[in-house]
Amino acid sequence: MLNIGCHLSISDGYEAMGREALRINANTFQFFSRNPRGGKAKDIVPEDSVALKTLMSENSFAPILAHASYTMNLCSADEKVRGFAKTCLKEDLQKLMLIPCGLYNFHPGSHVGQGVEKGTELISEALNEAMFPDMTTTVLLETMAGKGSEIGRSFEELRGIIDRASLNEKIGVCLDTCHVFDAGYDIVNDLDGVLSEFDRVIGIDRLKAIHLNDSMNPLGSHKDRHQKIGQGNIGLDALVRVINHPVLRDLPFFLETPNDNDGYAEEIKLLRERYVN
Ligand code: FE
Ligand code: FE
Ligand code: ZN
Repeated sequence: MLNIGCHLSISDGYEAMGREALRINANTFQFFSRNPRGGKAKDIVPEDSVALKTLMSENSFAPILAHASYTMNLCSADEKVRGFAKTCLKEDLQKLMLIPCGLYNFHPGSHVGQGVEKGTELISEALNEAMFPDMTTTVLLETMAGKGSEIGRSFEELRGIIDRASLNEKIGVCLDTCHVFDAGYDIVNDLDGVLSEFDRVIGIDRLKAIHLNDSMNPLGSHKDRHQKIGQGNIGLDALVRVINHPVLRDLPFFLETPNDNDGYAEEIKLLRERYVN
């Protein structure tokens, strides 16, 4: 079965997201670990967490994914911004122990002129401070489009972070189809080639989740503007090959396309129809 969901709002709590996922025929979902603007994290109500856990096991959910704030920049040049980002990361990883969510994804960060080397050092230093031996969460680095000074525009850049992280058996990667395409990896004409490159540089075992998005911009544009499935430069056929690829087909897929929840429902329906069971 295709494990697919989309980004949902946490406003009504955890179990409510599970119910909404079921309503749109998803069997997983993604949510922000805190307000996307980076504000204070909501407290977790234990009963709500237990209710989600029950719902997930009764409906054979795939792993769900917590997404860090976009504003969390662990390699900012500004010490205050960096300090706040580190606090967010630490709090998020502690908090995830209280909910049935084993995957935490974040954008590595933007080095804002300090250079990739310095940025990579700062990111792995932050990971080393925040991660702890008995954590049950796998931390995912997201592949980035490479707009501005974003780190993670190549598989090598992600590998650089992983190599410097001490608990790196708990680190994986979330591949965003829009981002890698915008970064210049041709998943339309050479998906096999891109995946063997991923395997050579990072190791395919580290790939734990897929953000399934079409792109408004052409290959290598370094733009990062998501488009609805089938309406962008990646196109429906290429995305259908992604969900059916033998190396990818059992992973959880998360839509981050410009849609409301009913729009997501239509995309989920379409992709389920095109998945070869
Ligand atoms: Fe993301
Ligand atoms: Fe993404
Ligand atoms: Zn994006």
